[in-house]
Amino acid sequence: MEQKIKDLKVGEVEVEGWLDRVRDQKSMLFVIIKDRSGKLQITVEKEKTPEIAKTLTSLMTDSFIRVKGLLVESPCVKLGGVELYPTEVEVLSSAKVSPIGEESSIDQRLDYRWIDLRDSKKRLIFEVQTIFVHAMRKFLMERDFIEVHCPTISGQESESGAGVFEVKYFDQKAYLIQSPQFYKQMAIASGFEKVFIATPIYRAEKSFTKQHATEFSGFDLEFSGVKDVEDVMKMEEELIEAGIRAVKEKLGDRVKAELGVDIVVPKLPFPRLTMKEVYEILDEECDYPLDEGDDLDREAEKLLTEYMQKKTGHQFFFVKEYPAGVRPFYSMKKEDDPEYTKTYDLYFKDVEITSGAQREHRADILAEQIREKGIDPKTMEEGYIDFFKYGCPPHGGFGLGLDRITMLLLDLPTIKEAMFVFRGPDRIKP
Ligand code: ATP
Ligand code: MG
Repeated sequence: MEQKIKDLKVGEVEVEGWLDRVRDQKSMLFVIIKDRSGKLQITVEKEKTPEIAKTLTSLMTDSFIRVKGLLVESPCVKLGGVELYPTEVEVLSSAKVSPIGEESSIDQRLDYRWIDLRDSKKRLIFEVQTIFVHAMRKFLMERDFIEVHCPTISGQESESGAGVFEVKYFDQKAYLIQSPQFYKQMAIASGFEKVFIATPIYRAEKSFTKQHATEFSGFDLEFSGVKDVEDVMKMEEELIEAGIRAVKEKLGDRVKAELGVDIVVPKLPFPRLTMKEVYEILDEECDYPLDEGDDLDREAEKLLTEYMQKKTGHQFFFVKEYPAGVRPFYSMKKEDDPEYTKTYDLYFKDVEITSGAQREHRADILAEQIREKGIDPKTMEEGYIDFFKYGCPPHGGFGLGLDRITMLLLDLPTIKEAMFVFRGPDRIKP
């Protein structure tokens, strides 16, 4: 088994790592190598081992080497109080000079993303995401959710026509999914009762903002037994709290030390506003009136966030009961106020991280709502409306953008930093 630097014990050792730094002194060479677990000093006495000294001074940073030798205690060495006297050095992969550095722009760095990611601070972002997703899975499994995997190619457009990537599919047209919405609802019609889907999601939108990508990682839930949109919101706030609490417990100290960010476990319940209240607040408190029926634009989102943070001190808040005109056809309308819907968005800091709703599960009403959006319901019978003609329980759910929540949780300047590999209108490599 390969030994990691932090697990090495004094005595004969063999270890592999990246060349981090070489300090060349008169008779000595001090070389630092690193792996994920830490750094190690290799001390070379030039006269005793001239070949090893020659090899090591000829290498560029980030070359990958294997070193055999004697590890000894050495209290004056900062890195763990040990140093390794090498008897053998093998170059497993020599590196060229790095094409990027501290001063490189994000787009230059993305060209060489694999080098960019060697920075342990960047790796930490993905360790955080791993813990967050794992905690959400655990939360859902404790509540009997079933994880399903679905295709991302479909013969059907999943939302409206806008923003969909068309793909050649032999001699037919196909589309990349804009959300796993139809599959989630199909699972409810299949009697699964509680499901979640983690999947890539595609949006053919030329958005150059800090929070948009053309492909992102969605984490979507749907469950039955929903009587009101509040049931869905409650599930979501508990889920998010569980995810962030796990991150705080497992990585909070490192995130503070390495990224300078405090992970704040949010208090439950999150504050809630209806869109009607939002129209009033924007008009009266923010001097930014919107017409009733309008969606929130970016400026409105920022003003509202500022207002909510001042008023509640909370980093999260829900906005619910959106006007029917700005929500998808599958949203359930309010019985007592059908201009408005049983839908919501969740905001974290000043960005939307989730949209959720109680869904319309009655086939005839669904067909009517599809018609209201200017789509011929006949085109959606097969593969969607049909799901609801053979019995289907009332249900609801939401879709969360993982990359966005990671960006916000860690105060990253753009979603590009929160994605292992970013996809945008101008970027399809590497
Ligand atoms: P926005 O209005 O911010 O573009 P949306 O309302 O179109 O988002 P939804 O369809 O509600 O997005 O998708 C559910 C979630 O998926 C969003 O709340 C967000 O977290 C994430 N998301 C949506 N679009 C993108 C995107 N282009 N890039 C990254 N994440 C996204
Ligand atoms: Mg949305």
